[in-house]
Amino acid sequence: MKYIGAHVSASGGVENAPLNAHAIGATAFALFTKNQRQWSAPPVTDEQAACFKEACAKYGYTASQILPHDSYLINLGHPEREGLEKSRAAFFEEMERCEKLGLDRLNFHPGSHLNKITALQSLDRIAESINMALDRTHGVTAVIENTAGQGSNLGFAFEHLAHIIERVEDKSRVGVCIDTCHAFAAGYDLRTRETFEQTFADFDRIVGFNYLRGMHLNDAMKILGSHVDRHSPLGEGMLGIDPFRFICEDPRFDNVPLILETPDESRWSEEIARLKGFAGE
Ligand SMILES: [Zn+2]
Ligand SMILES: [Zn+2]
Repeated sequence: MKYIGAHVSASGGVENAPLNAHAIGATAFALFTKNQRQWSAPPVTDEQAACFKEACAKYGYTASQILPHDSYLINLGHPEREGLEKSRAAFFEEMERCEKLGLDRLNFHPGSHLNKITALQSLDRIAESINMALDRTHGVTAVIENTAGQGSNLGFAFEHLAHIIERVEDKSRVGVCIDTCHAFAAGYDLRTRETFEQTFADFDRIVGFNYLRGMHLNDAMKILGSHVDRHSPLGEGMLGIDPFRFICEDPRFDNVPLILETPDESRWSEEIARLKGFAGE
């Protein structure tokens, strides 16, 4: 089964996200469980958690169809003590929110070295940060997203993801999310059957499909290897529509949330319908 959806709004309360996802015909969704531009938020109340769970049940979303995303401010590989501690505290809070909401995974961007420490030092810090959060929470998998490698952002190479996973103590609670735009911007081609197969053979060898906990389906505005993170509507960027058909036809992408973060929200229902068509659903 393919779970196909988009990163929907949770404004007015997390319990609105499943409703918004249902309205566009989604069988999966992503959300921020708090304002993504702020460090902190009041804790999730019992009532909010109950409302969210009720809405998910009503519209038929189980935890494996939901991919919450953490705040953009968090940098788990931060070179400086203050920034690192603040990020670790905020990440723990995000994990806790997911746990309270009955969610089983949290998607995040690994982090940046900010040109103050080496990439390897920063990657080691990211792994340590994940270990600290996993120690203090239960049932939530830390899902590392590949990045475009813009600026000093790490996680653009599959080897970065593997390096982090290798250092995470509880392998049952670490996973990855592959963003098609980020992969392409990082230099992984997906445009033809041949390049698609090569890229995912590399992914499987270096990271492993057993760690795949979600995908972000975005076309790319800039050329292969640009390291620029700019999404386009499906079929309208440099990737074209074929990679998205390949994914929908491929059983290796079954049963994980496939999430659109394409720029024009008004087209999500049409994009979801098209992807469902490719998947034969
Ligand atoms: Zn993404
Ligand atoms: Zn992006």
